[in-house]
Amino acid sequence: SEREGAVEYVFKVVVIGDSAVGKTQMLGRFTKDEFSVDSKSTIGVEFQTRTVSIQGRLVKAQIWDTAGQERYRAVTTAYYRGALGAVLVYDITRRQTFDHVARWIDDLRSHASPSMVVMLVGNKSDLASDHHSRAVTTDDAVEFARDQGLFFYETSALRGDNVEAAFMRLLEEVYAVA
Ligand code: GDP
Ligand code: MG
Repeated sequence: SEREGAVEYVFKVVVIGDSAVGKTQMLGRFTKDEFSVDSKSTIGVEFQTRTVSIQGRLVKAQIWDTAGQERYRAVTTAYYRGALGAVLVYDITRRQTFDHVARWIDDLRSHASPSMVVMLVGNKSDLASDHHSRAVTTDDAVEFARDQGLFFYETSALRGDNVEAAFMRLLEEVYAVA
């Protein structure tokens, strides 16, 4: 099992993005494979962990969740300290959350290490089948991510689609530079 043996690496990863984009649900999906219907806004939760195997090495991902600090520039330097990776989440059904991604990148650049691996994630892809719900096209996000040098996934924390793939990709990229 993934839990046997000795952990050789601990990677701190931070999850950022506007309120209600699905950060906490995504983290729950990756660390516990669950989605809770009555999700409350996060208060005081620090981080969750999951140990995975990457190229035969045990890596403990220590994934930090914001605790209601999603207002502009409210996330503190301590939150970013030592982080090797960041998951920057927006909601594909709310354009404003995508428009704010640039602010979050500014925040990363002012607080975090330049070598941090950053992944852009458009969450709530389960709602995309209703074309009236989608407010950010995949093409727009792909182009933006390419310009910014980020890699990009669309996910559904609700259905679990792509959450595992996205987090594993991030951890593999961090492993490659660590
Ligand atoms: P956070 O503020 O970014 O941590 O967002 P939460 O994880 O608390 O989720 C905010 C709301 O969006 C909650 O009502 C969740 O149930 C809902 N939600 C989160 N992820 C998804 C998803 O992938 N699809 C859908 N349809 N709803 C989601
Ligand atoms: Mg939350």
